[in-house]
Amino acid sequence: MDLSLTDEEREIRDWVRTFVTREIMPLEQTVLERERRNERGLTLEELRGLQAKAQEAGFFGIQTPEEYGGMGLGAVMNALIEIELGRSFVQFKFGGDADNILFHANDAQRAEYLLPTIAGEKISCFAITEPGAGSDARNIRTTAVRDGDEWVINGEKTFITGGDVADFCMVFAVTDKELGANGGVTCFLVDREAGWQSAPIPTMGEWGPASLSFQDVRVPHSAILGEEGRGFELAMRWIGKGRYLLPARALGACERLVEMGMEHARNRVTFGSPIAERQAIQWMIADSAVEIEALRWLVLSAAWQVDQGLDSRQSQSMAKLYGGVKANEIVDRVLQMHGGMGYTRELPIERWYRELRVLRIYEGTDEIQRRTIARNLLSGHVSVRGHLR
Ligand SMILES: Cc1cc2nc3c(=O)[nH]c(=O)nc-3n(C[C@H](O)[C@H](O)[C@H](O)COP(=O)(O)OP(=O)(O)OC[C@H]3O[C@@H](n4cnc5c(N)ncnc54)[C@H](O)[C@@H]3O)c2cc1C
Repeated sequence: MDLSLTDEEREIRDWVRTFVTREIMPLEQTVLERERRNERGLTLEELRGLQAKAQEAGFFGIQTPEEYGGMGLGAVMNALIEIELGRSFVQFKFGGDADNILFHANDAQRAEYLLPTIAGEKISCFAITEPGAGSDARNIRTTAVRDGDEWVINGEKTFITGGDVADFCMVFAVTDKELGANGGVTCFLVDREAGWQSAPIPTMGEWGPASLSFQDVRVPHSAILGEEGRGFELAMRWIGKGRYLLPARALGACERLVEMGMEHARNRVTFGSPIAERQAIQWMIADSAVEIEALRWLVLSAAWQVDQGLDSRQSQSMAKLYGGVKANEIVDRVLQMHGGMGYTRELPIERWYRELRVLRIYEGTDEIQRRTIARNLLSGHVSVRGHLR
């Protein structure tokens, strides 16, 4: 068993590490100040500028297949990159990506949605959650009713990331009530100009999702993504696109937070000694380091299984659950190690504290991950011995 990185993995990882250190971290103070004025951390122009810089070095479409001009990197490489990006709270992502399900587009949709999304000319959003259906996504109520060559969409979506800035949405609607999620949900590509409305939802994080409202929004039959009635499968594919990536980003944040905690502990003197010499503080550092290491291998093992074409769902759920729970415990410890300063807005810790909280909620809550993990075990689909069996 070889757990080391290949030369290529190390080279790419190191390049991203340098990019984050040189280009992204210096923006942190400005981003914090802006966010605290309720402004966007990075303007769209700044984000595009950074993406262009990365593109000059070949970093474009890291997950996008090469035939679309991307790098087509594998899951392990993506996880390693995400860990590096997570070391800064600045919401940066490389350009050239598109939602995985957009690759199911037909030729016309490819030209109208997929290619402009990869090029950064159009922004998408993914809309399944409704006020009455979150974890229980099979229970959505938004309807699309056929009227000649058109479909008429009615319903409400909520918590849609990017919903207030998106040019188009991938909306999931019931097209056959009898069948519901078993063949009666369809995905539609709907331009904002078609008439859906959005309103931002303030959250405890810095970047908010939006609610979307569809009132008699008409789209042509050609707006269907994939097959009529097969939308629920597409939605699950979108959600399952890379669950290991969310805890990977949190892992990067935890590494940086613990480094900040250790730095503070070495320098903060109380009762005549640095707090780093106190067992209470050392245990916080030790527990965090063990959990970071465990999370690293959960994430990388899940990613490796993806690359091997194995059924990685159990490992991905485990990585997502463990990452969400442990990242929140670790940021809390690091805040505690900083005492009153940790609670202020002088430092980014409170920001991470708020942001990491969402990891336990979106793309499958802790409870839903536990449900999945236990069900897979109880049904005998997987073993507690993991993929090695
Ligand atoms: C910042 C943010 C961004 C988001 N982005 C998107 C997006 O882009 N697109 C999108 O479609 N959605 C998005 N969501 C929605 C997100 O996926 C849902 O919030 C999530 O799935 C939980 O659904 P819910 O909020 O309705 O909670 P509920 O499903 O109502 O759950 C409430 C509580 O009950 C628990 N619970 C529910 N069912 C069970 C069960 N069977 N057993 C035990 N416990 C259970 C849950 O774990 C939770 O603790 C986003 C949410 C947030 C907060």
